[in-house]
Amino acid sequence: MKAQTTYGEKVADARMRFAFYGRVSTEDNQDPTLSLPRQLANCERAVAETGGRIVAHFYDVESGAMRLDARGSGKGLVGFDIPIPRDGGLVDLIEEASSGQFDAVVCESINRLSRNPSVTFRVEEQLADEGVRLWAIDEPFEESFGSIVLRHVNVGLARGYLHELKVKSRQGIETAAKQGRHAGGKPLYGYRFAEQEHPNPHKAQQGLRIKVLEPDPMTASVVKTIFHDYVIRGLTITELQRKLNSDLERYPPPQSPDPKRRTGMWGRSSVWEILHNPKYTGYQVWNRRQRRRGGKINPPEKWIWSEEPAHEPLVSREMFDRANAAAIKRDNVTKAAEGHEDYRKHIYVLRSFLRCGICGLRMHGKIRRGRNTAYYTCEINRRHSGLVPEDHPRMVYLREDKAGEKVVEFLATHLFGPDRIEALKRSLAEIGPEADNAHDEVDRLGTELDGIKKRIRRLVTNLEAQEPDNEIADDIRARLEELGTLRAKKQRALETAEKEMEQVPDPESAEALVAALPLLDVDWELVSDQDFRDVLAALNFEARYNPTKRELTIRVTLVPELTHPDGGRAPLLSVPPAGFEPATHGLGNRCSIP
Ligand SMILES: [Zn+2]
Repeated sequence: MKAQTTYGEKVADARMRFAFYGRVSTEDNQDPTLSLPRQLANCERAVAETGGRIVAHFYDVESGAMRLDARGSGKGLVGFDIPIPRDGGLVDLIEEASSGQFDAVVCESINRLSRNPSVTFRVEEQLADEGVRLWAIDEPFEESFGSIVLRHVNVGLARGYLHELKVKSRQGIETAAKQGRHAGGKPLYGYRFAEQEHPNPHKAQQGLRIKVLEPDPMTASVVKTIFHDYVIRGLTITELQRKLNSDLERYPPPQSPDPKRRTGMWGRSSVWEILHNPKYTGYQVWNRRQRRRGGKINPPEKWIWSEEPAHEPLVSREMFDRANAAAIKRDNVTKAAEGHEDYRKHIYVLRSFLRCGICGLRMHGKIRRGRNTAYYTCEINRRHSGLVPEDHPRMVYLREDKAGEKVVEFLATHLFGPDRIEALKRSLAEIGPEADNAHDEVDRLGTELDGIKKRIRRLVTNLEAQEPDNEIADDIRARLEELGTLRAKKQRALETAEKEMEQVPDPESAEALVAALPLLDVDWELVSDQDFRDVLAALNFEARYNPTKRELTIRVTLVPELTHPDGGRAPLLSVPPAGFEPATHGLGNRCSIP
């Protein structure tokens, strides 16, 4: 077999005409108005590199699991305003193939075409009969279709998974920014949130709404004043700061999200931030800051501006540009803004994923004095006394490097290693008793709850038989109130127990989900801290440290959407490979932390 080459190199005839095919599944919550433009943009870029061009657009909003004759009804498109001209769906694409209008079909990945292998084969074959090639841009551009097998092996292969996961979610945000949707967070100073119906009808039906920015009556004028004073009147940041602080009622300061930094005054940095925030021009801007570590500001050429203004501007683009040009000349505060760089020197990769096994609260990172070693800790004096059990040690410590090693070991063996299915089976065997316990608990609480409800009904009947203001009636009322509280408490406990019961996955689905992950031999040392945290987040990673047993229990939850880019139909499944379980099970999965 020929060595694989990247696309572009192998395309002999430039100016090749491509038909785009895109698909968004109906079952998941993807927004076709974002997903399809993203698919098209990726294909356009790949096609442009080959020297070719896209001459027709076919797409569907429907399940990829359907049989071919059920495809392309167009029903899924109803209600979506998709900004791409449509020449038809999958069935039309096959019909048009004989017209000679295009030489090849391009799609983002092969499962955009279909998630049903027999459909994929048939479409490939029918296109090939018409001399039309099919190219998924995450695969090499092959001269022939002789390697259909290779293609199927390629689906879901390692290079796809982690990369796709990250790149696609990021691209989703980029596309949202381009279309002027608010990308999350709290409203920008000078604005407030207004709600609008969600443009995706599926989400709108679920009552979801999107947030848009509108000028805040109190603070919008403050922003305008700041720009005016700085650009037109030539005030320095310090002078501006003094002016604003002299009348805080008229110029209310922005609230820092960090309570410790909330001073109730204007700081230099808050003034600086406003003068440098391009969103005041009405355009949405994304990628202004690096997503890593200190969050340094990216150079302006990396910013992504929305194509249209997304909200009402508070300053003109010209005013904004002048403020920023002036800043370079006048101020040295750029340095101050970058001063956050060493703010968090040590990255605690498990931060927010790791909980204390005794109180269940999140552990936080700390350098232990004198030892100069990083730890995760749970300190009793930093907790509300009501949240901490009595037998909680004053300090719980877990060495950061040891914990990291164990997590990496877990990822290597249980998720991305060749023996992962075996590891999963062992883990599921270990949580067997846990599942039984959950069942018993649900039964027990159900019975108790029934008993309480019966007693309440009896008391109500008794109460009705009494004169309203005699003593017995008062007693009954008091008793009813107690029972009401008890009923609510048991109800909550029952709901929790039911949730726990549901979280125990059935072995078959769990195996399928784990098997859908690529086999990876990753040198985690080479993965950046932020990427590592992104992977953990994608896996819904959770860990608990039990200091008494010195054991770390790890749980990941695999969501089908992550293993298949366009989402599967299986319900959300929790797969707890129970990485490091109590020593009593003794099945080789436990880990002790020295
Ligand atoms: Zn604790």
